[in-house]
Amino acid sequence: MTDTTEQARIRVHGLEKAFGDHKVLRGIDFESARGTSTVLLGPSGSGKTTVLRSLNVLETPDRGVIGIDDVEVDFSRLPPGKAGRKQSGRLRAQSGMVFQSHNLFPHRTVLENIIEGPVIAQKREYDEAVADAEALLDQVGLGDRANAYPSQLSGGQQQRVGIARALALKPRVVLFDEPTSALDPELVGEVLAVIKDLAAEGWTTVIVTHEIRFAEQVADQVLFLDSGVIVEQGTSAQVIGDPREERTRRFLKRILDPG
Ligand code: ADP
Ligand code: MG
Repeated sequence: MTDTTEQARIRVHGLEKAFGDHKVLRGIDFESARGTSTVLLGPSGSGKTTVLRSLNVLETPDRGVIGIDDVEVDFSRLPPGKAGRKQSGRLRAQSGMVFQSHNLFPHRTVLENIIEGPVIAQKREYDEAVADAEALLDQVGLGDRANAYPSQLSGGQQQRVGIARALALKPRVVLFDEPTSALDPELVGEVLAVIKDLAAEGWTTVIVTHEIRFAEQVADQVLFLDSGVIVEQGTSAQVIGDPREERTRRFLKRILDPG
């Protein structure tokens, strides 16, 4: 294997996580180069969300190394207490997460939702945060909805605000966990289009999705997960177009040809 550690933006080695005696991740290894999109496919319960939550340190892995740019944490050696929390916090700040449903604050406007993190958590200048938020809203096609409340937006628009909110924190990588699976079918396309634009613009992304056609278009790398291990990985042409493993074939067939 060639050593891509130097230039890889995301490095995951030997990642393990159990909940009680249920081993959910059993040694995950992958790397993502800067500016690439990595799509995670796999059946429900295979550990996709736990991989993303580990990258964002919403879960603390039991073992393994996660590095994003110059911040690397070896969870096998995470110091206890404050020192460990500090390491975890630094790594968490490297990524932004977009969830299945947006969880925007209902009593705040779109703009207020977006500037909350930059102003409160990151202590950035209010005016600068507002200017950035307006630019991000333009980018996700919602430049005219800054003063709307979440309930006045469609699900697809809310999800695009969720994307703008993640980007406002200026992360190095953006993580998407089934960003369209809670949407009505007619709203899926507008959200996928925004994600595609971000990828084309050079954002480094990791995307969990069941939208196989979208995955084929956007992915530089596809990982197929089953029972907490990566069963197959490669380009989308390899993993989706010409899967080697029986488990991958069965999964794709079920998704592309349900019933
Ligand atoms: P996926 O996103 O691929 O559907 P998840 O990563 O959400 O899979 O979950 C993998 C397994 O871990 C599932 O069996 C799930 O029930 C279990 N799991 C996830 N989070 C927790 C948790 N906080 N406590 C206990 N079990 C969990
Ligand atoms: Mg999940």
